[in-house]
Amino acid sequence: MTKYVFVTGGVTSSLGKGIIAASLAKLLQARGFKVTIQKFDPYINVDPGTLNPYEHGECFVTEDGAETDLDLGHYERFLNTFTSQANNVTTGRIYQTVINKEREGAFLGKTVQVIPHITDEIKRRMQLLAKEGFDIIITEIGGTVGDIESLPFIEAVRQLQWELPEDDCLVVHLTLIPYLRAAKELKTKPTQHSVRMMSENGVHPDILVCRTEHPLSNELKAKLALFCNVKTDAVIEAADASSIYEVPLLMQQEQLDIICLKKLNITWYPEPDLTIWKGFLSKLNNPKSEVNIGLIGKYIELQDAYKSILEAFIHAGAMNECKVNIVNVHSEFIDTENVESKLNGLDGLLVAPGFGHRGIDGKILAVQYARENALPFFGICLGMQMSVIEFARNKVGLAGAHSTEMDSNTPYPVIDLMEGQKNITNKGGTMRLGSYPCKIEKGSLAYEVYQSEVISERHRHRWEFNNDYKESFKAAGLKASGINPETDLVEIVEIPGHPFFIGVQYHPELKSTVEAPHPLFVHFVKAAKAFSKRKAIV
Ligand code: GLN
Repeated sequence: MTKYVFVTGGVTSSLGKGIIAASLAKLLQARGFKVTIQKFDPYINVDPGTLNPYEHGECFVTEDGAETDLDLGHYERFLNTFTSQANNVTTGRIYQTVINKEREGAFLGKTVQVIPHITDEIKRRMQLLAKEGFDIIITEIGGTVGDIESLPFIEAVRQLQWELPEDDCLVVHLTLIPYLRAAKELKTKPTQHSVRMMSENGVHPDILVCRTEHPLSNELKAKLALFCNVKTDAVIEAADASSIYEVPLLMQQEQLDIICLKKLNITWYPEPDLTIWKGFLSKLNNPKSEVNIGLIGKYIELQDAYKSILEAFIHAGAMNECKVNIVNVHSEFIDTENVESKLNGLDGLLVAPGFGHRGIDGKILAVQYARENALPFFGICLGMQMSVIEFARNKVGLAGAHSTEMDSNTPYPVIDLMEGQKNITNKGGTMRLGSYPCKIEKGSLAYEVYQSEVISERHRHRWEFNNDYKESFKAAGLKASGINPETDLVEIVEIPGHPFFIGVQYHPELKSTVEAPHPLFVHFVKAAKAFSKRKAIV
């Protein structure tokens, strides 16, 4: 029997519903339950794959090639389990399914309506993963209570609560308790209104998780409980944490998991085993060294654009007992004059993924700087493609070499569109997506990192290394050390002789978790540490 926990948000967005959902899931998983988390997003795009990072932050990609909300990244990083297409559903996808069915004649003779047809489809998807034997499914409802577009989702929760046995469903409402500095007071009114609004729609929260910058007194908790009609022990304080990875422990102190289990009428549960998690936190909080890594990208002012990369550095830093300071370098503003002053002082360079030509020249200059100065270099997707272009121009002698994404008339298309992509015009879900195998050459840096000849990594791109140039690259010193065994596509390039220079066509950051930090990030940080030491000696 699967139980359902719904997480809604009130008062404002960006309260960290994803982190609260993931933290609760972590605690339940640590107690031995099989848990998954899914996110229902009220916007009309079928998936976030067509949204730019300014709109929606990073697009996370699952093993099965779904382009999803970045919260799925948190779910995977916390739980160390994979999510899939079924874990992220949008209004667009719901309507698309219902409309396709209508065209097939599934509702012949009937008027198709939000209730029951849209809500039925939402409920079907809310329960879909139960087939996989989960004890508890946590569903995060995107947006904020009161938004017009989230209404069908709230209504679906109401119906499910009405249909299922009473103790099979539970609603956790995440809310903000603002502090008014002038009055020196925490205010409960916005939460009261948010709960009332939800109640008007027939859904009443069982638990309030209150984001706050100041501790909640018992008095205030009692007031919230009374006015919002929840039990006093179900008012949970969620204080600001120094790291998102502290939140499961904060929630454990507040007994969020136990209160949930009680409400779901689960009476037997073992003590949570958080040994690995705590071990990670202790390393994270007690670094023995420090490195500065330059993140070269064009969205650096956006916290969420490179979310998985930043988190992967946190995992890898802890593994190395090293504090990784990320130095954001805007690729659009790097030029030949300032490249030295901007990058000098760094211990490693990561050139970020991306699309389109903005900031490309800066990325190419950054690669050149890393290559010529023995600075550890790590290129991901577009970053890898830039390393190939830089090498082509400056080492192979192919002046004007480029990717046909940025220059369709380049004399040397060293990065080119895959044959299979050439006739695709639709933009949604048509890239090379999801996990693909890669065969690694023994004796290469990639092999040293992975310690395995066959790996599998996730992709999200249309362009590829052009195999016509493979031999010229090899002769000039850039080796293709990882190849897709089925398609012969180049997945990894490296420069033997450089202390650490690697570019990967895939996205390793998507598979780094607290319990399994990604080896590429771990080795890159290690190389940065070594660079920093060498620098100190010189
Ligand atoms: N724009 C490049 C491509 O489509 C790289 C994509 C990426 O970095 N994710 O191939």
